[in-house]
Amino acid sequence: MVCISTVSYSIIVNGKPIKPFEAKRGLRQGDPLSPLLFVIAMEYLCRLMKQLGNNKEFRFHPRCAKVRLIQLGFADDLLLFCKGDVQSVMALHKQFQIFFTASGLVANTSKSSVYFGGVDSRTRLKIMEVLGYTKGDLPFGYLGVPLSTKRLSAIQCEPLIDKMLNRIQCWTAKFLSYAGRATLIKNNNIWDTKPKNASWVIQKIFKAKAQFQEAGYSEDDVRYNDSFSTRKMYKALQGEFQKVTWRCLVCNNKGMPKWIFILRLAIQDRLATKKRLARWGSVDETLCTMCHMNNETVQHLFFDCDYSNEIWQKLLSWKGVMRRKKQWKEEVQWAEKNAAGKNAGAEIYRMVLAAAVNHIWQARNNIIFQEKQINAQSIVKTIVQEIHIRAQHYKKTGYLSK
Ligand SMILES: [Zn+2]
Repeated sequence: MVCISTVSYSIIVNGKPIKPFEAKRGLRQGDPLSPLLFVIAMEYLCRLMKQLGNNKEFRFHPRCAKVRLIQLGFADDLLLFCKGDVQSVMALHKQFQIFFTASGLVANTSKSSVYFGGVDSRTRLKIMEVLGYTKGDLPFGYLGVPLSTKRLSAIQCEPLIDKMLNRIQCWTAKFLSYAGRATLIKNNNIWDTKPKNASWVIQKIFKAKAQFQEAGYSEDDVRYNDSFSTRKMYKALQGEFQKVTWRCLVCNNKGMPKWIFILRLAIQDRLATKKRLARWGSVDETLCTMCHMNNETVQHLFFDCDYSNEIWQKLLSWKGVMRRKKQWKEEVQWAEKNAAGKNAGAEIYRMVLAAAVNHIWQARNNIIFQEKQINAQSIVKTIVQEIHIRAQHYKKTGYLSK
């Protein structure tokens, strides 16, 4: 091990190598030598573990005793197995310590876990005390495959099935097993067929029956259905939900997708305002970024704050809505009631609301993250311009009524 624990460099100056000097921090990652060195180091571990197999204090994991398996390694992942008693674990740990002293390769305690199967709780506690690792729960993912002591459930295999399906989609049709085809042809009553010998592709198709049943389809529905509607199926599987009152503001909004997204967050009170961040413990100070007078909440930002109040009031009068601005919730309710229709006025109002909310939010973010302040007047100007451009576009394409 001494040979591989030190590294030194020599630089060629004027065509001559200078006296070698030692690297302060050893071999760096990415060096073409490192995979080879890694193999040598792991070979040492391998031999140590083989030695351990002859140690009388150590007992193999019951399932590994036949092949005398103790360790499995892939790159920097290492799995060690032994019988679940303190003595064996301690012997294994000791051997691992020898490897650590020689190679300097330490197990990262925060990334290492100990997994138990059929070990009583007292022994478990003792083992954990010896090792100092946290207890992990089975199943856990290793190289993309869930590892478990039991047979894997269907859900655990799902990611694997998806991956495989992606790969073989093009040739599935060509490779149906003979048994699968025979079952399909012979059996008139396909609905109740449970093909045991068919390929798993066929089995998967048959399993789709459960989903049809869940969606309320009967055999006749499927048999005599000339056209299948994905939409109908989706709705049937999803079930009925109460519709939110503000959907008209979001779903039929011709504004930019970004505006609508921010508007949706604001209506649901999900914007990361300071008040909300403080609740999660991310910030200490909760005063409004714009006015430093009140707590920064959605209610205050839209449109109680002097800054946003000015923008919103100007936009209202530009839109020809002659009223004082209201509280946030009432503003949303007002829009639901008065700007829900398909006429051009309502459509533009919805856009204006989304644009105002988005631009005020962006202005607030600009101050926080870029220390850039934009005055209210120029925001109003930008919004009016943008709405004009969008409205023109929809007028041309015939989407906007007037
Ligand atoms: Zn404010």
